[in-house]
Amino acid sequence: MRLSRYFLPILKENPREAEIVSHRLMLRAGMIRQQGQGSFTMLPLGKRVLDKVCRIIREEQDRAGALEILMPTIQSAELWKESGRYNDYGKEMLRIKDRQERDLLYGPTNEEMVTEIFRAYVKSYKDLPLNLYHIQWKFRDEVRPRFGVMRGREFLMKDAYSFDIDYEGARAAYNRMFVAYLRTFTRMGLKAIPMRADTGPIGGDLSHEFIILAETGESQVFCRKEFLDLAVPGETVDFGNDAEIAGIVKDWTTPYAATDEMHDEAAWDAIPEDERLSARGIEVGHIFHFGEKYSKPMGAKVQGPDGKEHFVSMGSYGIGPTRLIAAIIEASHDEAGIIWPESVAPFEVVIINMKAGDADCDAACERLYAAYQAAGVDVLYDDTDQRAGGKFATADLIGIPNQVIVGPRGAAAGEVELKRRATGARETTKLDDLLAFIG
Ligand code: ATP
Ligand code: MG
Ligand code: MG
Ligand code: MG
Repeated sequence: MRLSRYFLPILKENPREAEIVSHRLMLRAGMIRQQGQGSFTMLPLGKRVLDKVCRIIREEQDRAGALEILMPTIQSAELWKESGRYNDYGKEMLRIKDRQERDLLYGPTNEEMVTEIFRAYVKSYKDLPLNLYHIQWKFRDEVRPRFGVMRGREFLMKDAYSFDIDYEGARAAYNRMFVAYLRTFTRMGLKAIPMRADTGPIGGDLSHEFIILAETGESQVFCRKEFLDLAVPGETVDFGNDAEIAGIVKDWTTPYAATDEMHDEAAWDAIPEDERLSARGIEVGHIFHFGEKYSKPMGAKVQGPDGKEHFVSMGSYGIGPTRLIAAIIEASHDEAGIIWPESVAPFEVVIINMKAGDADCDAACERLYAAYQAAGVDVLYDDTDQRAGGKFATADLIGIPNQVIVGPRGAAAGEVELKRRATGARETTKLDDLLAFIG
């Protein structure tokens, strides 16, 4: 992408409405535009990051055996009356009437709708286990939308729903999502700690929140420090092996970790002080087992191997991709701007032409740009006629992990400079060597 043809509305001034660093940097880097209370447009740079975040989520959901669908945002109130949640859900739910005066709502979550899909088609235990997920906008009329996309009213959610014949199957499904979540957040460069959590309006008896430690987090959390060093399973983890998956979950749930709603003072006091971590945290994911809470009132049942009908045992599993973008920035930035982990960076490389119009600079940059594109690397080429200082500031602000800096003197000598955004480390290299390396 040539910056001269891109839409990157950088803000010079710090936006006054932004209270936390991620909100400030997302506005300044031209990633988002606020459209109303708690609602945002993803501008091109933000959309690129969102797509990368969603891609990692999808890959890990798919690896764990979940199947992607796409349900509508607008739901019928009838379904929610069946489950009994239409009245219970309260003011967070946006209720709408259509021209026939039918009660509709903008989905804050999809347990009812997915249960309706399940009961329409699945009749036998032989079709289980089943896990269906989608990545779709949600609306919740939050009391206090704030901190940009961290707490929006309209926000993106990945929500998965598992269906099993009995508790044992449902527990295995829960474990698979638990491990998929560990891998998902690690791939985004985040340390997420699973904490025992309250089940809230989703209901149920087993639940973990995945929490990123950050000073600006809205929850108070308590855990053992050893979580920071626990190993996350690699790509070869076998989701078909229930015992292996259960073992990983056990390792990750044995040390003490709880959000304030579930905090147990006695258990906490028993932990040596230097092993305790009491901090603020951001909830980026939440998984629930709730058994028959929806399948029973909504009549979602299958025939078991015993020939009898069983209400399916269910769980649901949420991740907030839009909130994650902010959480990643909270975890990875400095004075100059965002520092994207490679896996979610909007571009992997930025080529900075320090003197557009200089024949050597232009030629070197064009060759590099073509080489990166041919190699399938996401490359941004700053070909604008801004001053070099401004270009460096922009590259640092938008956080591209690798900068290739091309100045007139170096270009004339066949050399360019490489800079790593994360460390600031610089090295000079021969243009031809770099071209050969790109391939
Ligand atoms: P919170 O405690 O922050 O209000 P929640 O517990 O209500 O979140 P869940 O119902 O567990 O949220 O939804 C699953 C995931 O969706 C959350 O873990 C979070 O990542 C994301 N999410 C929830 N509410 C919002 C929001 N208002 N803005 C952005 N993301 C959200
Ligand atoms: Mg909430
Ligand atoms: Mg919560
Ligand atoms: Mg939650």
